[in-house]
Amino acid sequence: MSVQTVESIEGFRKVLDEERRAGRTVGLVPTMGFLHDGHASLMRRAAAECDVVAATIFVNPLQFAVSEDLSSYPRDLAADQRLAEAAGVTWLFAPPVEEMYPGDVHTTVTVAGESEGLEGEIRPTHFAGVATVVAKLCNIAGPCRAYFGEKDWQQLQVVRRMVADLSMPVEVVGCPIVREPDGLALSSRNAYLSAAERRAATVLHRALRAGADAADPVEAMRRVVAAEPLAELDYAEMRDGRLLVAARLGTTRLLDNLAWEGPSDNHKALEG
Ligand code: AMP
Repeated sequence: MSVQTVESIEGFRKVLDEERRAGRTVGLVPTMGFLHDGHASLMRRAAAECDVVAATIFVNPLQFAVSEDLSSYPRDLAADQRLAEAAGVTWLFAPPVEEMYPGDVHTTVTVAGESEGLEGEIRPTHFAGVATVVAKLCNIAGPCRAYFGEKDWQQLQVVRRMVADLSMPVEVVGCPIVREPDGLALSSRNAYLSAAERRAATVLHRALRAGADAADPVEAMRRVVAAEPLAELDYAEMRDGRLLVAARLGTTRLLDNLAWEGPSDNHKALEG
């Protein structure tokens, strides 16, 4: 079945209400568009687990600070429609900004704890913007399973907490990170990278791999990023057994994360 694009809140709410009334379960995949295979993996998973898949494309101004890349964020709706259709999406909600935010926003959702540190420290208003738009999308879509990538690990924790704390009728599903063959995590922002920056961008994954079986993972990650002249480290940290790294390559910020496995038996044997 071909993908159908809906621009109005009322229209999107109506088609998903009708799907549920017909007994079908709904999978929701929120995105900012300029879709790649990471997004497609979420859509395919939703298609495997739900009767009908709805994806959303909305570059949410609320989650960008004034200094950030809102106006230059890459967009290509025609290509997104093709990718979404191939990945099993039936409904594509692509509202204009005025539809989502017709006037001043007086109500926002703040998730304490999960939003603090890491991205939250560097982008202080970011997660309130994310939580608010995800709350709106869930309120519009209605009861569903909602698919989010582990690529944005902290965001996934923020969304899980919001859904639990506010008793939203949504089951959050986290999906593994999709990478390029050289380890770089797929991201719409990879399109910003120059050829030299693209080559250097593998440093995030290299740092995580170095940290994954190190006794001092933070030190190991810092050392790998410091050795890459084109990369500027924002943070390398461990939280809840997860290694998280963010770095700038020129003006492009990239994120990645990986489970920490602890020192391998090999190392332990060597250390005696
Ligand atoms: P974005 O369009 O960047 O807001 O991403 C939309 C959703 O796709 C989020 O849940 C992301 O975590 C997820 N996503 C983005 N890149 C990847 C990736 N490389 N692998 C898995 N999920 C991803």
